[in-house]
Amino acid sequence: MSALLAVEGLCVRFAAREGRMVHAVEGVSFSIPSGGALGLVGESGSGKSTTARAIAGLQAPSEGRVLLDGEPFGRQSARSARARVQLVFQDAQGSLDPRRPVGWSVEEPLALQGSGTAKTRRARAFAALDACGLDPKLSLRYPHELSGGQRQRVAIARALVCEPQLVILDEPTSALDVSVRAQIVNLLCDLRQRFGLAYLFVSHDLAVVRRVCEEVAVMYLGRIVERAPRSELFASPRHPYTQALLAAVPEIGRDLALAPLALDPASPLAPPSGCAFHPRCPRRSEVPAQRCSLELPILQTHGDAALSCHLAAGAVPRAHPAAPGSGASRG
Ligand code: SF4
Repeated sequence: MSALLAVEGLCVRFAAREGRMVHAVEGVSFSIPSGGALGLVGESGSGKSTTARAIAGLQAPSEGRVLLDGEPFGRQSARSARARVQLVFQDAQGSLDPRRPVGWSVEEPLALQGSGTAKTRRARAFAALDACGLDPKLSLRYPHELSGGQRQRVAIARALVCEPQLVILDEPTSALDVSVRAQIVNLLCDLRQRFGLAYLFVSHDLAVVRRVCEEVAVMYLGRIVERAPRSELFASPRHPYTQALLAAVPEIGRDLALAPLALDPASPLAPPSGCAFHPRCPRRSEVPAQRCSLELPILQTHGDAALSCHLAAGAVPRAHPAAPGSGASRG
């Protein structure tokens, strides 16, 4: 299947104090087929949101390229091409104009494109609100008059009204209560099926990613360390960092008998040498000659999955048992 979105060797670097560079994203590559959904997961500071912003053209890449249907895509792309990729952020309040009724915010992207007449734009905005489970009468309300879940539905309607092929969702449920979160996840699954949307779903919530996405890429300090189909990644995580992340999700960690790590955030300003995960990795002692602290592991493809770890692919257990002697620890 040809890729709708192809990300090739994407790097984003920022100048920091004292002449240092922050390597926020380093050599990230993946693709999403038309109608597919990829989850990008990792802790805060892993580079997943910066990756999403670079793909959407909100952040200039330092290296690499983004292709949409085989054509270079970015902030220089024509408005009609940019309309094919829409973003939904965690903070719906921030993406809606507080001084305007929400209906205006849903119509605005169409007005900016110069698409249709005022009447047809209004009709499309109403249809998008309706598809998102909102009564179009709510279009006259202001953002502060809506609940958090309703505001997020409006933000999704604003993305949907452009009839995009790809929606980039950056932590779209993180600010919501658990019950509302489930409703928004159901809505996203429904919209994807109904309109044939592709999703890049950025989240630290692995349970939500498991529900929405068929493929998952795990980022650690700016790099993808593991990528696999959902069923494979959740049933048999291979990278020690993926195992640690899943161990922190009670129902998943318990089922796989994974041991959680102390997940202290590492600084992208001073990434460790070699494998950036090595100071926290419970399995580095299995790799001889201090290779983990000296040599950066390369992301290697194995079938439809990819792994970046010096442990030979076949030697990484499909689940990481928490039994004594497994090498797992809580700190
Ligand atoms: Fe752990 Fe070494 Fe693999 Fe990095 S390369 S995840 S430190 S075993």
